[in-house]
Amino acid sequence: MLEAHVVSVNYGERMAVQDVSLRAEPGEITAIIGPNGAGKSTLLRALNGALLPSHGEILLDGDPLRSISRRAIGRRIAVVAQEAELRFPVTVMEFVLSGRYAWSSTGAWGWETDQDVAVAQGVLRETELEDFSARLMNELSGGERQRAVLARALATEASILLLDEPTANLDLAHQAALLWLVRARCDKRRASAIVVTHDINLAAEFADRVLLLLRGQTLAMGTPQEVLTPELLREVFEIRVLVDAHPVTGAPRITPVHEARW
Ligand code: ADP
Ligand code: MG
Repeated sequence: MLEAHVVSVNYGERMAVQDVSLRAEPGEITAIIGPNGAGKSTLLRALNGALLPSHGEILLDGDPLRSISRRAIGRRIAVVAQEAELRFPVTVMEFVLSGRYAWSSTGAWGWETDQDVAVAQGVLRETELEDFSARLMNELSGGERQRAVLARALATEASILLLDEPTANLDLAHQAALLWLVRARCDKRRASAIVVTHDINLAAEFADRVLLLLRGQTLAMGTPQEVLTPELLREVFEIRVLVDAHPVTGAPRITPVHEARW
């Protein structure tokens, strides 16, 4: 389990995240929602140990994250970053296999075992990228590349998934497909996922809990029903929304009401 206790993160003088606490429980998806610049990516980077909090503590299965080696973190936390630097010519298969690297005992060239290859093939199948395995990462569409990044994260078999706007480049069907895959990981393997997203309706459907961030601080934390209210959403996004129940799933359904502001 990954826990943040009253965590603040600064960039020099600027406080990007202030006094945020959360727990990524096994089997649960937590969505982080908030406007641009709210501190969502910064919080995710701190949760992965890439940024050190200026105050507070992050615990991974009870141990301070800062006391755990990068490699050991890499086996337990997988990250799908917002802006991945992927413009190098490796094949999709090589890229996904690199998700197994934290498990390799030698780290030498040709380290991968039959099991690593089997895991990589399994996630390529799950992400519907089998036909792409020999294609080069830098010759894929944005959405295809994003699925490959998810496949790599799943290939780590980490029990904690941190995803930063993972559906941003995906079409409607693949947005839901991605979250179903994350849901399946959480259900079947008791993994936990923290997903930063601008898609409030996807969060309403898939998240067990929602953290609303505004200017680096927690405005609300709770179930989608508790947090995705017209009052709180208006406060965060400064826009009027209607909230009713999705006619098929019953999840909160958020419809913005676009009023002229000028
Ligand atoms: P979000 O992901 O919610 O859009 P970020 O976490 O990226 O927001 O940014 C939070 C705040 O921190 C913003 O004010 C942003 O300008 C600032 N910030 C982000 N990255 C850096 C950085 N590397 N150096 C300085 N300030 C940063
Ligand atoms: Mg961001």
